[in-house]
Amino acid sequence: MTTSHVRLPSHVRAERSPHEHAWSTESGHPTSSGHILYVRCEICGVRRVDLQQRYDTPPAPLSKLLVSR
Ligand SMILES: [Zn+2]
Repeated sequence: MTTSHVRLPSHVRAERSPHEHAWSTESGHPTSSGHILYVRCEICGVRRVDLQQRYDTPPAPLSKLLVSR
């Protein structure tokens, strides 16, 4: 079994290239300080936790990007 000439499929490179994350809300729940949103990028699969303090304000990132690899 040789792996010396294996080339990464092009879609793997695309996942690592810069892109605008396509955040999709997986789940969320209200807390005393606002609404916690668990979001995930549909392109690269990275996760983030957002906190939306009020319904009329945009969510603010609560965590750094959580890369699960
Ligand atoms: Zn992404």
